[in-house]
Amino acid sequence: MDQYDVAIIGSGPGGYVAAIRCAQLGMKTAIIEKYSTLGGTCLNVGCIPSKAMLDSSHHYEDATKHFEEHGIEIPGEIKVNLEKMIARKQSVVDQTTKGIEFLMDKNKITVYEGIGSFKDATHINIKKNDGKTEEIEAKNIIIATGSKPSTLPFITLDKERVITSTEALKLKEIPKHMIVIGGGVIGLELGQVYKRLGAEVTVVEYMDRIIPGMDAALSKELTKVMKKQKVKFALSHKVKSVERKGDQVIIKADDKKGQEVVFEGDYCLVAVGRKPYTDGLNADAAGVKFDERGKVIVDEHLKTSADNIYAIGDVIKGAMLAHKAEEEGTLVAEILAGQKPHIDYNLIPGVVYTWPEVAAVGKTEEELKEAGVEYKAGQFPMRALGRARASMDIDGFVKILADKKTDEVLGVHMIGARCADLIAEAVTAMEFRASAEDISRMSHAHPTYAEAVKEAALAATDNRALHV
Ligand code: FAD
Ligand code: NAD
Repeated sequence: MDQYDVAIIGSGPGGYVAAIRCAQLGMKTAIIEKYSTLGGTCLNVGCIPSKAMLDSSHHYEDATKHFEEHGIEIPGEIKVNLEKMIARKQSVVDQTTKGIEFLMDKNKITVYEGIGSFKDATHINIKKNDGKTEEIEAKNIIIATGSKPSTLPFITLDKERVITSTEALKLKEIPKHMIVIGGGVIGLELGQVYKRLGAEVTVVEYMDRIIPGMDAALSKELTKVMKKQKVKFALSHKVKSVERKGDQVIIKADDKKGQEVVFEGDYCLVAVGRKPYTDGLNADAAGVKFDERGKVIVDEHLKTSADNIYAIGDVIKGAMLAHKAEEEGTLVAEILAGQKPHIDYNLIPGVVYTWPEVAAVGKTEEELKEAGVEYKAGQFPMRALGRARASMDIDGFVKILADKKTDEVLGVHMIGARCADLIAEAVTAMEFRASAEDISRMSHAHPTYAEAVKEAALAATDNRALHV
């Protein structure tokens, strides 16, 4: 029987990063993945393919709606070739997952293809895809089995017309009318993809605003911009039934007055969150315990109820984000090597890759009010930037929240072009516990979108933004 210092079950961004870090730290490492490609949800059916589709559809929208204004004329009709678009997306996925194979090889990590299942706390049975089984032994084990889409109890996901994000990334046709249940990250990103490609898109959301976990000002601005892009929103609507009739899908919901509203489309994307995935893992046999939502219970060192077993990523509490899973993978590897690493969960940024992009780190205004923290806010509109006008991406703003007395930055919330990248400056500043004045005194290249961060910091410092 092969023996390892550490075995990792699941090769998503949590699992494969943990494997690399363990190998870097000198541990004999194995990784077990049930699919034939590595990289988990993120690389295969999540972050990477959705961004590939967002980028392709963005190019199409620019070509059809914005090129002319820039003085670019394309004779003839501009058309979408969906099959080709999806094939390009798949080739990006293939290159990326192959890259993980290369990294496993480079770091001398043994890869097992098959379903990992605990025999006891130090032994894993692997049911291989070729029908054979193999048992391995490991001193330490990391559960990184990730998550799967959730649904609602009354929905039958037929995966043809009532679909999850996985199917939405490989449709054979552009929907005429896509009804999206859930105005969260997936609903808005993939809703925007199909809106740009020509579908009518209606987002039905249970709460009174989209991206409900983010600062309310971001929800408001994104709603405004997406409405301009002709996405329809039905907020405060509780979906109660989803029924397929031939090629149509009929969704019934109650609005906030309790009145029934009927939505009819040819596709329904169910995007109401994700749930932890532990099917077939048999973790009970190793003494691993779960909470009432099926998440693996871990302590502050990400150790489960079993002494030598850890868990990371979507399968445990916290934000379901690839970069959070990666940080946790690194943390566990370093703990196993006897180091004392730390993650500040308050500083894990959240990003929505719509256009304009939405990004945030730290506390929202609602959270600060709730906690009774005295704060000041500085906000700067993107439209006041020369760079934004040059590229005609003028929607959005940067808002910095700082402690009223100490001026320490407590939260940064932004919406606009390239905010997914701009948020890194805010994370760096907050990691070093910068004040708003610290940011405002740093030189920001001109003309850039990053100038909005400096200007918002000036506004937060003592209301002295320069360009408004
Ligand atoms: P996963 O990536 O889910 O990987 C778990 C792996 O474990 C899977 O490959 C699974 O097959 C394997 N596995 C499970 N059980 C077993 C078993 N018993 N034996 C062997 N293997 C097993 N996050 C971001 O940060 N940015 C984004 O832009 C983003 N976009 C997304 C877009 C979409 C459409 C979706 C669905 C998700 C997106 N996410 C994004 C979320 C991100 O994909 C997840 O947070 C991330 O993949 C979690 O990583 P993980 O390692 O915990 O698990
Ligand atoms: P989400 O939690 O972001 O959004 C789900 C939305 O559905 C919420 O707004 C919720 O109020 C709504 N909802 C729940 N029940 C409903 C009902 N009965 N009727 C109508 N609306 C209802 O979940 P998601 O968009 O499915 O994404 C799943 C996970 O994947 C998220 O945790 C997210 O972190 C991750 N993800 C991240 C990114 C990114 O980082 N850019 C992109 C995609 C997915």
